[in-house]
Amino acid sequence: MSGGVIHDIFVIGGGINGCGIARDAVGRGYSVYLAEMNDLASGTSSGSTKLIHGGLRYLEYYEFRLVREALMEREVLWKMAPHIIWPMRFVLPHAKGIRPAWLIRLGLFLYDHIGGRKLLPATKTLDMRTDPAGKPLKPLFTKAFEYSDGWVNDARLVVLNARDAADRGAVIRTRARVASARREDGIWRIAVEDTRTGKTEEVRARLLVNSAGPWVDRVLSGTVGRNDVHNVRLVQGSHIVITKKFSDPRAYFFQNRDGRIIFAIPYEDDFTLIGTTDQDYEGDPARTAITEKEIDYLCAAASEYFVEPVKRSDIVWTYSGVRPLYDDGASKAQEATRDYVLKAEGGNGQAPLVNVFGGKITTYRRLAESMLEKIEEHLGRKGRPWTDGAALPGGDFPAAGYEAQVASLTRDHAFLDARLARRLVRLYGTRASRIVGNARSLADLGRCFGTELYEAEVRYLVDQEWAVTAEDVLWRRTKRGLHFKADEVAALETYMKDIGGRRRTAAA
Ligand code: FAD
Repeated sequence: MSGGVIHDIFVIGGGINGCGIARDAVGRGYSVYLAEMNDLASGTSSGSTKLIHGGLRYLEYYEFRLVREALMEREVLWKMAPHIIWPMRFVLPHAKGIRPAWLIRLGLFLYDHIGGRKLLPATKTLDMRTDPAGKPLKPLFTKAFEYSDGWVNDARLVVLNARDAADRGAVIRTRARVASARREDGIWRIAVEDTRTGKTEEVRARLLVNSAGPWVDRVLSGTVGRNDVHNVRLVQGSHIVITKKFSDPRAYFFQNRDGRIIFAIPYEDDFTLIGTTDQDYEGDPARTAITEKEIDYLCAAASEYFVEPVKRSDIVWTYSGVRPLYDDGASKAQEATRDYVLKAEGGNGQAPLVNVFGGKITTYRRLAESMLEKIEEHLGRKGRPWTDGAALPGGDFPAAGYEAQVASLTRDHAFLDARLARRLVRLYGTRASRIVGNARSLADLGRCFGTELYEAEVRYLVDQEWAVTAEDVLWRRTKRGLHFKADEVAALETYMKDIGGRRRTAAA
């Protein structure tokens, strides 16, 4: 048992919603314990298209509340974390026979006007025969619309919320699976299993938050012991990453003949990200992987637009995620609502439980605020909404100040080449200087594990960001995995195991 402590709130799940709720709650003065069974962001929150967007497509399904809230969040989130979130322009070619130009214009007019846009530039029309965005596309696309949305490093957004929550006093445990949760004498008794040692400890809390993403129903049936649970519809979405298809900094929004849409987005300097698909999913969300059919679909859909077709041989990486959409009974996977629903139960002597169904990365901060309203109903009010305007770790610099941060880092550490300095500021913002420390040469950063990844960064990730395995480092804290060779991955894995082993011995 974790001492005599009874926490105010126990959060199940270290995805964007769990970490966002933990951060908001601890910042208001509640004591918080969060358990994640794997790595932070190892579920859906690292498998997204990585857009901070209103969701132009959702207007077709009349999701005005969601679109407006999400649009409003774009500039709020950009200011909170300008290192990992930034504006991006999207080029939407007009494709004859799919949606009429007037409908797109109407959608973009709403998009520009309902979301409190202040800094992001407005929509404009492009002549693709002369605009550089037309160059990689087939000449039949002569006209396009260009509009604003945002880009986010999704996995890092999760970790930064967790870091900030921990800095404010929350307990954040990874590789900690909630095996069972039961009510007793008005509180929750939660069995938390360390997945590395198999040891279980009991944690007590007044209120339980179930933000287990696609596992939310499994937690209700398996962990809380409920029968007949069906709240979410699981919808798989996959992406392919290919060698760079175009050098324009703008992303493309392509309409497909089946009425769906896909994005082609500049990614990690050297690549293009293409996705996503929508297909119902059954089975363990941890095992999701792209299917042959999805690969064919994405290659074919992008090849309708690009002059140079997208081939399987262009693919360097793929990833899949499972959307936990609130089941509103929509007939097609792409039509199911993307809005979130919070449902509370308990109270009146029974320890309360609040479940999170659905949600977008874009709306996680607002979801957390709504969750806090529910929590206040049960635990009494503490603090006020505070996260709007509160920078995430490393994000304490002006929204348009990225280049100035890079200049400042290279001024203080002249040995850093531009590419490495840019990468460090993109990932860690003002905290990049904590990684570089007093180093005066690359050698002072320690062992180099592979392209641009030095020991100083890995140590920071282990000490500050809960990284345990090579996969955590290479695919979630950074995307160095795109550049690493198999022997480099193996060497990093050995290093991570050594550190973990030494820490466990020291703790024993
Ligand atoms: P998750 O990230 O899945 O987190 C839940 C966590 O709970 C997991 O890490 C899991 O390991 C943990 N867990 C489960 N059971 C237990 C247990 N018993 N004990 C401890 N831990 C447990 N949104 C956008 O805003 N923009 C986009 O561009 C976008 N694109 C998307 C594209 C795709 C293909 C998909 C799938 C989603 C996309 N989304 C997007 C939606 C967004 O990614 C999700 O809504 C969001 O990540 C869900 O976060 P979550 O915290 O609810 O779930």
